[in-house]
Amino acid sequence: MAVVEETGHRREASTLLQELIRVDTVNPPGNESRAASLLRDYLARVGIECEWIAREPERANVVARLSGGDGPSLAFLCHTDTVLADPAEWERDPWSGDVVDGEIWGRGALDMKGHVAAAAVAFASLQRDGFRPSGDLLFVATADEEVGEGEGYGLRWLVDEHAEAVRCDYAVNEGGGERIVLGGRPVYLCATAEKMSAPFLLRVHGRSGHASMPGIADNALVKAARYIEALASFEPEPTLIPEAKVFLETVLGETPSVHEALARAREVDRRLADLVAPLLALTLSPTMIEASHKRNVIPALCDVGVDCRLLPEQTPADAEPLIRAALGPGDYELQWIEPTGGTRSELQTPLWDALVSFVSELEPGARLVPDACPGFTDSHFLREGFGTVAYGFFPLMAMDSELATKLIHSADERIAVDDLQRGVEMLRHVARELLA
Ligand SMILES: [Zn+2]
Repeated sequence: MAVVEETGHRREASTLLQELIRVDTVNPPGNESRAASLLRDYLARVGIECEWIAREPERANVVARLSGGDGPSLAFLCHTDTVLADPAEWERDPWSGDVVDGEIWGRGALDMKGHVAAAAVAFASLQRDGFRPSGDLLFVATADEEVGEGEGYGLRWLVDEHAEAVRCDYAVNEGGGERIVLGGRPVYLCATAEKMSAPFLLRVHGRSGHASMPGIADNALVKAARYIEALASFEPEPTLIPEAKVFLETVLGETPSVHEALARAREVDRRLADLVAPLLALTLSPTMIEASHKRNVIPALCDVGVDCRLLPEQTPADAEPLIRAALGPGDYELQWIEPTGGTRSELQTPLWDALVSFVSELEPGARLVPDACPGFTDSHFLREGFGTVAYGFFPLMAMDSELATKLIHSADERIAVDDLQRGVEMLRHVARELLA
């Protein structure tokens, strides 16, 4: 493993991350202007002026730009809000920013104030070094990623209302960077795509009646049981999307047939199968149910809430016939609830090459693999708005990836200072490669 040298960037990023953690930007309500002012002040100290773009005064986004030639532009994209934290569940104060055994503790350390600090330091240090990019380099720290309802206060709103401030050809964002050893070789995941979150309500109809006389009614709750079973055992026909194909080729050394893909992955490592399985087809998880509000009333309607994730570029219209076929005929309807995400960026790009060269310098023998993350990030708005090649990548080498996944949005979130420093170096490397 590469040795992490003590550098000024490391100290600078640690201090900035501690300051960012110590300002509470739990969303809702957000109050991201607290983090935005810290970033504005930090960048001002190295002579960089920020654009302060806020729909509401407390919810500012900051954008800084290192102007370059007319080459392609690159954004370091990050968000400054966090999810909530319940101090009772934590070993330390979630807003302490304490350093313990080489790790900085606090809400947002991984998602994603650590990345914010690394991006700010990478950006400022490049400017200080006199870096002259061939295209614009942007630092974009947005509000309201974690909630973002309606137009929101963050990137969705910026893309709609301040497009020229955030338009970019390439972006490095959150969503990837986990390191996993598969078949004896480390791979780093890069989130080049996202599944579409397309939840729906399965509304099952029956006929109400008094619960003491079940024979006279048609119990929608009981009817729903059969459909819930059908949803849970649904096995759609697998397909090999480009992300899964390249992932498997990289690890297996050849392309498996789509029907063998999962078995071949399992032979290498259970975790490979766990990662590849959701890339082969849409997934369905029934998670909520609502029927009668009175025990003595047989419900005429039962609503089953289903978490559904579609493959990138698959639509609810593509999925509905498959789901209906699995459910079979009956007195029910499907009601889709605001599908979001589902975009992808190409894999053969200069940004990909820059990350590949970073990974092989970081850890000789390690490989970069594409992934379609199951959740939703701001990358979606850039891809949709400008056709930006946006990847999620922040390498975690010191912290075990399974632990990191467990800590995100949960108690005792923290980041290794070594990983923070590597994040700075990764972003500096990408900017130098891409905007040379
Ligand atoms: Zn995040």
